Amino acid sequence: MLPAILQHGKGYHEMGPIRPPSEGRDRSLLLRITRNCPWNRCEFCRTYKNKPYGLRSVAEIKADIDTVKALAGELKATSWRLGYRGTINREVVAAFINANPSLYSEAYSEPSVVQRRLESLANVVHWLSSGARTVFLQDANAPQIRTAEMVEILNYLKENFPSIERITSYARSKTMARKKLEDLMRLREAGLSRLHIGFESGCDEVLAGVKKGTTAAEHLLAGKKVREAGFELSEYYMPGLGGRKWSQKHAVESAQVLNEIDPDFIRLRTLVPRRGTPLYDRVLAGEFEPLTEDEVVEEIALFLEHLDCHAYLASDQMCNLLWEVEGQLPDDKSAILNTIHEYLQKPLYERLKIQLERRLSSYLFIAGHLKPDLSADVEAAWEAVDSRAPDAPVKVQKVLDIVKAAFI
Ligand code: SF4
Repeated sequence: MLPAILQHGKGYHEMGPIRPPSEGRDRSLLLRITRNCPWNRCEFCRTYKNKPYGLRSVAEIKADIDTVKALAGELKATSWRLGYRGTINREVVAAFINANPSLYSEAYSEPSVVQRRLESLANVVHWLSSGARTVFLQDANAPQIRTAEMVEILNYLKENFPSIERITSYARSKTMARKKLEDLMRLREAGLSRLHIGFESGCDEVLAGVKKGTTAAEHLLAGKKVREAGFELSEYYMPGLGGRKWSQKHAVESAQVLNEIDPDFIRLRTLVPRRGTPLYDRVLAGEFEPLTEDEVVEEIALFLEHLDCHAYLASDQMCNLLWEVEGQLPDDKSAILNTIHEYLQKPLYERLKIQLERRLSSYLFIAGHLKPDLSADVEAAWEAVDSRAPDAPVKVQKVLDIVKAAFI
């Protein structure tokens, strides 16, 4: 018989729309502490557009943790029953779903509820399969809630799952700058161990231009405080965010602020103006001049030349062109710069080829196939590159604009 929380509860734990790629790689349990973004005004971001910010009660979150625990217990029990000695594999998951039509059949529940239950189950399965070691608290700014509440949630998580080794969340610099150091230390002691901050830029003109709602001084204060409280800190820098106007200042001042913070990770997340955002409209209106692929790479080189810290530089986002621009600073700095310069020194048509190959491979990873109307443009771009036609850059750019619009 199913535990009461699965029989009478929602049958799923609530999850938000995104998490950092590193949390996906580590197959973290995703647990929603707050809904959406309390700021929601950054001009380049559409993740939570038109979705209201909301707090969740501690009781609701504890019920979600109870649901995860019940699902984990049932999956393990199914595994032992089938002779797999606790291992969670496809057969176990299929047997569990088939044995519980009241949870997973559309004959008993709304399709949208069944969908949520299946997504929740998939998250729990992946988490268990990777040792149930890491948890990511969603959404955009989980530490905004009262410290005492967050501590209660963290304690409850660890009591129920002693296997947890790392708990992380996104955080806004504005919030971290305002939060007392003692509160941050309490969160750290309670088990929140890594914070991912959307730094984007250390240049005030850029931050104000995209309505980030944070200044370079607040980034610095927040980053230093987070480090002092003992967190691992991951800062996201957004190449291209200053457009052509601010590109150099954006690169240099961002590096300077990050040098002072000295985070554990700096993650590159190249700007892709997205349809439906104010920044995209500004691009169309000619008010924001986006950088070309090569100009972004040049900006990253300038940024890196000015970096003097001990962070691991990661390029783990699909929107980056050169995923190999990655390594431990300061030791790998010259090797990373060599990689960048090797790319920039290639002849134009070779660079265009790299751009087409990489962007199309990311697109195919998401979309699965080329839409027929795009196929013709792709063919024309390849032909122009192969024949070194003068209009090759324009044709390649047309394809890039279409495929990058599909990026997450
Ligand atoms: S703070 Fe983060 S989630 Fe919120 S609007 Fe800005 S980029 Fe998006």
